[in-house]
Amino acid sequence: MERKAHETAWQECLDIIRDNVNPQSFKTWFEPIKPVKLSNKVLTIQVPSQFFYEWLEEHFVQILQKSLKKVIGANAKLEYSIIVENQNSDNQPFTINLPTGNSSKPVNNELGMPINLETPIKNPFIIPGLKRMNIDSQLNPRYSFDNFVEGECNKLARSAGLAIAQKPGGTAFNPLMIFGGCGLGKTHLAHAIGNLIKQQHKQKVVVFVSAEKFITQFIDSARQGNNNQFVNFYQYLDVLIVDDVQFFAKKERTQEVFFQIFNHLHQNGKQIILTCDRPPKDLKNMDERLLSRFKWGLSADLGTPDFDTRVAILENKMYQDGITLHKDVVEYLAHNIDTNIRELEGALISLLAQGSLTRKHLDLNLAKQIVKNFVKNSTREISIDYIQKLVCDFYNIPVEAVKSKTRKREIVQARQIAMYFTKDLTKASLKNIGIFFGGRDHSTVIHACQTVNDLIETDKKFRQDVEEIEKRIKINTF
Ligand code: ADP
Ligand code: MG
Repeated sequence: MERKAHETAWQECLDIIRDNVNPQSFKTWFEPIKPVKLSNKVLTIQVPSQFFYEWLEEHFVQILQKSLKKVIGANAKLEYSIIVENQNSDNQPFTINLPTGNSSKPVNNELGMPINLETPIKNPFIIPGLKRMNIDSQLNPRYSFDNFVEGECNKLARSAGLAIAQKPGGTAFNPLMIFGGCGLGKTHLAHAIGNLIKQQHKQKVVVFVSAEKFITQFIDSARQGNNNQFVNFYQYLDVLIVDDVQFFAKKERTQEVFFQIFNHLHQNGKQIILTCDRPPKDLKNMDERLLSRFKWGLSADLGTPDFDTRVAILENKMYQDGITLHKDVVEYLAHNIDTNIRELEGALISLLAQGSLTRKHLDLNLAKQIVKNFVKNSTREISIDYIQKLVCDFYNIPVEAVKSKTRKREIVQARQIAMYFTKDLTKASLKNIGIFFGGRDHSTVIHACQTVNDLIETDKKFRQDVEEIEKRIKINTF
């Protein structure tokens, strides 16, 4: 069968293009193109979507031009024909023709993708270039680095996030995998990174999506027969943030498509940020290839915050909301709710709600009632951190001092008293107590306990101090 001129011309163009782009791109972006006509040196090619057109214009316009010139001649021109779904009526889809060099941001909204049209478009002819479309990043502006309190528990993840925000895709942290238990700040940090990227690199296209939403979008797109559009959309991004990837477990087809998107983004130097409720090695029912990629960049965990960080988080929250609470109340909350920041915030909110609804005083007693609802086991072991802190507060010295080598009298005394209470009120062994106090020997701990016992019997002022400290420890604990 004789080939039409446009087919032959396009075939020749393809031969040139094939030698100049990688095979994956060729398959994705050039195989679906159909030549439509060739007249007056204008070659019209049909592409499956607006998005496709944008992509070609953005990434392949030069090779297209070059090949066209070679095949058709110096003044060759390209025109796109795009199939547009007609959303307003039962009419058949129709096509619009666009010249090259007229690209705008992508349009694609059939998948419920996060795309935000500034004004709904009635007339498809005004779509390209004239209206600016933005992909809605789905980021929550409330979550920023400013209100993500730094602590030992999040240092690595936080600073990796900051580095990424400076150079998305340009650090070794790709992907960044943030993992950690429930309520420890994974979602917050992931949004914070996205927000900072948007702020510093306005032109970058960032999308935040929960793994669950990603799965639903994928299933919907499969049902509607436009998986390609789904993949295209995600492959177009500069920064992809997927929250809670553990939900990909057992979803084999989603894993497959995510694998494809991941590879494409990674190969093109685009940034990927993932969160997960456990370390990658503990993920079950996940494709090995995908798992190994999760480990390519940096896996950084969010641990449980220590006492000081919990206090700082509460204070930060209070500051944002313009609330003041007595220090005892804050420390009580921070001491008693120690494994989940979401619960810590919840307790604070309950406290405020109770206070404002019943006009009760926001005091320690109210805090104790509230905490009961949050903490299952109310007879809890006191932590060594906490004892150290209370003792040091009492003597007005920094906590580090009792862990240091200092032999200053008042610090030695504080250290001995803190050791004494640790022995008395916790299950820690002598050896462990020594370790917690700056790596001392167990015999030092024994000596401290003896000294304190002796002084309680012989020194009235000392005894009063110890009683007062004991009261503070117990008030805040039981
Ligand atoms: P996860 O996604 O790990 O379950 P979230 O990111 O939803 O946890 O965090 C739970 C709550 O705790 C959120 O309200 C978040 O703002 C808050 N939070 C977590 N970590 C911090 C932090 N370091 N500083 C301030 N708030 C935090
Ligand atoms: Mg979360």
